[in-house]
Amino acid sequence: MTSPFPTPVNDTIETTAAGPDGRPRYSHYIDGAFVPPAGGQYFDSSDPVTGEVWAEIARGQAEDVDAACEAAHRAFEAPEWRGLSASARGRLMRRLGDLILENADWLAAVEMKDNGKLIAELGNQMRYMANYYYYYGGLADKIEGATIPTDKPGVFNFTRYEPIGVVACIMPWNSPLPLTSLKLAPALAAGNTVVLKPSEFTSASLLEFVKLVELAGFPKGVVNVVTGFGHEMGNALVSHKLVERIAFTGGPEAGRIINEQAARSMKRVTMELGGKSPNIIFEDADLDQAVKGAVAGIFAASGQTCVAGSRLLLQRSIHDAFLDRLVDFLKGIRFGHPNDPETQIAPISTVPQMEKIEAYVRIAQEEGARLVRGGRRAEVPGYPNGLFYEPTIFADVTNDMRIAQEEVFGPVLSVIPFEDEDDAVRIANDIDFGLAAGIWTRDLARGVRMTERVRAGTIWVNNYRSTSTTSPFGGFKMSGTGREGGIPGMMEYLELKSVWISTDVEIPNPFIRR
Ligand code: NAD
Repeated sequence: MTSPFPTPVNDTIETTAAGPDGRPRYSHYIDGAFVPPAGGQYFDSSDPVTGEVWAEIARGQAEDVDAACEAAHRAFEAPEWRGLSASARGRLMRRLGDLILENADWLAAVEMKDNGKLIAELGNQMRYMANYYYYYGGLADKIEGATIPTDKPGVFNFTRYEPIGVVACIMPWNSPLPLTSLKLAPALAAGNTVVLKPSEFTSASLLEFVKLVELAGFPKGVVNVVTGFGHEMGNALVSHKLVERIAFTGGPEAGRIINEQAARSMKRVTMELGGKSPNIIFEDADLDQAVKGAVAGIFAASGQTCVAGSRLLLQRSIHDAFLDRLVDFLKGIRFGHPNDPETQIAPISTVPQMEKIEAYVRIAQEEGARLVRGGRRAEVPGYPNGLFYEPTIFADVTNDMRIAQEEVFGPVLSVIPFEDEDDAVRIANDIDFGLAAGIWTRDLARGVRMTERVRAGTIWVNNYRSTSTTSPFGGFKMSGTGREGGIPGMMEYLELKSVWISTDVEIPNPFIRR
């Protein structure tokens, strides 16, 4: 079996084998080859639209992780990679970017099968993803050290940046390939080698994507993929002696465990974790735009985005009128197959995520929040087993309720009134997270003040969810550490070395430090 998703560019690379019941079976990708799991076990991957099991994925264990890390380490030391100039690495990256552009529709189709996101959004995301490789490919030979004027005579000091070594990247299911690329592109541009671990819910797209990495001409072992359950094989990867850096995107719970494990061997980490972001609407905002901003914040991708504007802070003077407009806007929204360009709401991606949403809706009701809309599964003709959920709005939420403090990661909005600017800042910051925030006002001075006062890594004024390869992204507080994107995102994958060269013939007194 070559692949259930033939690429327009090349279909001779066999990404899958046929399982016993004829379904495609995906193995690990280690040292440039698809390798069956050491334990011989596979787990099911199902389509969130139909509920049907469509593929089997290798269930990795410590032995597989070991093989992948060894391969990555060998590749890091080998002249085929280490000996490449930064400019040559950049050319490889740009070739991969070209292949992504040529195959964007194909990548979107694979990703949709995995996580059920709208094809219309995925197509754009996949095309945009090429920019990660163009941008970081371009940066590869532009990271410069410095010559440093020191106060020590007879020595010349300069700094240089070097790759760290083997990087382990661990990804969630909501945007598998873009979130992988945010790590992979800067890690490769900096000269590292990688072991990628996708979510157990969305592994296939990455195993298809590596075809493009191979076609671009990256040496064997530079990019490896191991699949499986985080709680079963995660520890083996995070604590592996050959892994020197960890880039993690996922929930705060797994983030905390991984951070603690990494600290034991002093591994460098970036943590891109969850959020409970405030979307703050002042009475002087352009309310038509703000309604769209509120919808984009929480109901796009069914709220399954880390930056979801899940706390809607409404100035009291416009509270009721704005809520009415929001409810009106959602009348007649179209559920459906994510493949249909007319569909606005696609299914929830996984069964556990659906159960989490339902649990939080119950919690909100028990806490006394007022259900204004939704609060139940949506029945969509033709898809009896599809995981569809109604956009849900709770009003009369106070900021101390669990529905205001904890991440749901679904289409559930908590509406909280505020009195004035100080009150909005107090509520916005009264939370353990700090990933993003939206501010809607026509008063630019107030907008700027709010960007200074709200504690979050990304702040949007009169827009929501804008991001760019060129701009850093990351969290304050429990939303994480480190940044992805832009030049800061590249520096995360480099070690800084300070070099001292003597220009004196004479070695001074060896017993006294110079
Ligand atoms: P998750 O934390 O359950 O899993 C993420 C990844 O970690 C998966 O690959 C999983 O297998 C692995 N994992 C779990 N436990 C592990 C362990 N002990 N050791 C090693 N690996 C382990 O998250 P999820 O449900 O896949 O994704 C949703 C979460 O991701 C949300 O909280 C969301 O906010 C967050 N997220 C954050 C960003 C960001 O950039 N800040 C972006 C997207 C998603």
